[in-house]
Amino acid sequence: MYFEREVVSMAGIATPTLHDSMSGGGVRRTERFDVLIVGAGLSGIGAAYHLQAECPSKTFTILESRNAIGGTWDLFRYPGVRSDSDMYTLGYRFRPWRGAKAIADGPDILNYLRETAHEYGIDRKIRFGHQVTRASWSSEEAAWTVEAAGRDGNTAQFVCNFLYMCSGYYDYVEGTCRGGRACTNIAAASSTRRSGPKIWTTKASASW
Ligand SMILES: Cc1cc2nc3c(=O)[nH]c(=O)nc-3n(C[C@H](O)[C@H](O)[C@H](O)COP(=O)(O)OP(=O)(O)OC[C@H]3O[C@@H](n4cnc5c(N)ncnc54)[C@H](O)[C@@H]3O)c2cc1C
Repeated sequence: MYFEREVVSMAGIATPTLHDSMSGGGVRRTERFDVLIVGAGLSGIGAAYHLQAECPSKTFTILESRNAIGGTWDLFRYPGVRSDSDMYTLGYRFRPWRGAKAIADGPDILNYLRETAHEYGIDRKIRFGHQVTRASWSSEEAAWTVEAAGRDGNTAQFVCNFLYMCSGYYDYVEGTCRGGRACTNIAAASSTRRSGPKIWTTKASASW
C-alpha cells in the first residue's frame, strides 16, 4: 500500500521501483524514527542541532549518501574555494563563526562544520553511505516510508513522521549542462538543477 501512494523521487536520482531496489541485495529491516534528516551538510547539521535542542524527546537520524560531513564544503576542493557571503551570517547562530576571515576558505568552513557536528554529538547520528532514493507517504499511518540505497547493494528502509530534506540544491552524482545534458564539468556541477518535489527543505542561508 505504501508504495502506491504519492511517491516522491529524490533530486537527480533515478527512482527505482520496489522490485529494482531489492535487486542489488535485499531490503534490510525497517527502522522507525520521529524525524529523518536527509543530508549532512550545513543545513542538515543545523537542523539536527535545533531538533536536539528544541525537541529532545524526538528520535532522529541523518541519512547521508556520501561518506563525509560537509556537503558542498567537502565536495568542492579546488584551489581558492571560498564562501561568497560572510561567515558571520552564513554560520550558525548557536555557534558563531570565530575565524579571522569573514569570506572564509572552503577548508576552514569544512572544519567548522565538522567541529560543530562533533561538539553537539551530531556526527554520531549520521548514517553515511545511505542514498535516499524513494519516499512515500501513507495518510493512514501518517508516516513516510523512506528507502536508502547502501554501498553494499542493500536497501535500508525507514519509517518516520517527519521528513526533513537538507539535501542541497545541486546534483552530487553528475552536473547538468544547459539543455539538461549530463556533464562532468566541475563548474557545471555547481550550477543549479532544481530538485524534485520535497517535503521540508532547508536552504542554507544566514538566519539559523
Ligand atoms: C564554491 C561555493 C561557494 C558557496 N558560497 C555560499 C555562500 O557564501 N553563501 C551561501 O548561502 N551559499 C553558498 N554556497 C551554496 C552552498 O551550497 C550552501 O551555502 C550550503 O553549503 C548548502 O548546504 P546544504 O546543507 O543545504 O546543502 P549541501 O552542502 O549541498 O549538502 C547536502 C548534503 O545532502 C546529501 N544528499 C543529497 N542528496 C541526498 C540523498 N538523496 N540521500 C542522502 N544524502 C543526500 C549530500 O551528499 C550532501 O552531503 C556556495 C556553494 C559553492 C559551491
